[in-house]
Amino acid sequence: MRFPLTRDDALTRLYDFVPLAGRAYAARRNHDGGPEGKATTSLLSPAIRRRLVSEAEVAAAAVAAQGYTGAEKFVQEVCWRTYWVGWLQQRPEIWMRWQADVMRMEAMLAEDGKWQRRYELALAGTTGIDCFDAWVHELIKTGWLHNHVRMSFASIWCFTLRLPWQLGAAFFYKHLLDACPASNTLGWRWVVGLQTAGKTYLARADLIRDLSGGRFMVDAPLAREAAPWPADIIPPPIPPAPVMRADPTARTGLFVTTEDTSLETLALPGAIVALAATPDIGGTPAPLKHQVAMAMLADGLDRAATRLGLEPERVDATFGVDAMRDWAARHRLTQIITADAPIGPVKDRLDVLAPALAADGVQLVRLRRAWDDLAWPRATKGFFPFKAAIPQLLALPKNALA
Ligand SMILES: Cc1cc2nc3c(=O)[nH]c(=O)nc-3n(C[C@H](O)[C@H](O)[C@H](O)COP(=O)(O)OP(=O)(O)OC[C@H]3O[C@@H](n4cnc5c(N)ncnc54)[C@H](O)[C@@H]3O)c2cc1C
Repeated sequence: MRFPLTRDDALTRLYDFVPLAGRAYAARRNHDGGPEGKATTSLLSPAIRRRLVSEAEVAAAAVAAQGYTGAEKFVQEVCWRTYWVGWLQQRPEIWMRWQADVMRMEAMLAEDGKWQRRYELALAGTTGIDCFDAWVHELIKTGWLHNHVRMSFASIWCFTLRLPWQLGAAFFYKHLLDACPASNTLGWRWVVGLQTAGKTYLARADLIRDLSGGRFMVDAPLAREAAPWPADIIPPPIPPAPVMRADPTARTGLFVTTEDTSLETLALPGAIVALAATPDIGGTPAPLKHQVAMAMLADGLDRAATRLGLEPERVDATFGVDAMRDWAARHRLTQIITADAPIGPVKDRLDVLAPALAADGVQLVRLRRAWDDLAWPRATKGFFPFKAAIPQLLALPKNALA
């Protein structure tokens, strides 16, 4: 496996990579040698996505190795993820709209077949555009694509194949090992000009040829224009919910989800008497994506069990209200601690769970990491004003992972 599946392996990858996170990264990061080639980037995105390692740890390691100026470009890329997550967190409507659009468009496809043919060719990787077809197969086989490839893929999908961005984002979301509601949805929106008003990304054959080291000829004609997608209304930001604090005197269970598999790095209050995890990741993931998420979850649960000296339990696949109530009742819990989940299917479930548990006298406490707490409220405008907060993020105390 090309991607670390345990925290130990992710930390090893991080420390192996940081000597390259300076000038080499800034100069070469857009080059992509393909699945067999030498990586020019860290390949840490699946691990960061499920928080085998956190953005705080990744940025700190890069700065320690390269100094702030040397690591600036890499740290900024790490912070793009934080920015997108913080931005979407404050505009849940954008996430809900995308999901509704996908359902509507899939129904339309079935009904009138408007895009059916082009859509089928795209999903099968048989469009005749050599790079695009290879990337489709790479995505399905490996669950990952290089950043510049994702930009070119999305651009060809929308402007050359004239398919709706929402369906492309759904294809990515199903397969990407790092599939993230924020980075994926907003990455696609950025390509079609919905995030930076009127600014689209047009894939260029010469650039694809060059950045792929000549692996692709790109003889098939690509779109020569990228007209922005009709602008939609971006709702004003809703400030993130206040940080919750755990009661150190409560009888507490720890609950691990696929959103954060390093709960043992949180500052946990008092004694924890029970430990459980849920394998739910929402949606209909491709088998490889599911398998990788389960491996990361198993590693997270093992580490928490060792740290707490507890026998880990599994709550059912969709952690329904009854299963969680049952777990809490069996251990006579009055508090369940989990990591705060950003916008996405796990958060949706936690939102349903919290009031149901509260009715039983069990408080669901979602602990937010200091990095998120500082960053999210600053993601109200564009990335450039957000960047001003990076020095503050880097200055967070080393033990402020929680
Ligand atoms: C259309 C589109 C969809 C995308 N969907 C996702 C997604 O679902 N999940 C995801 O994690 N990233 C997504 N990205 C961002 C980016 O492509 C990946 O994070 C990156 O390719 C990961 O490779 P790496 O770990 O080697 O990154 P590195 O270059 O080593 O960067 C380190 C880390 O910084 C973060 N990062 C780097 N570049 C970006 C970026 N442009 N945007 C956001 N975060 C970034 C990632 O967490 C990454 O692991 C998307 C980009 C586009 C254009």
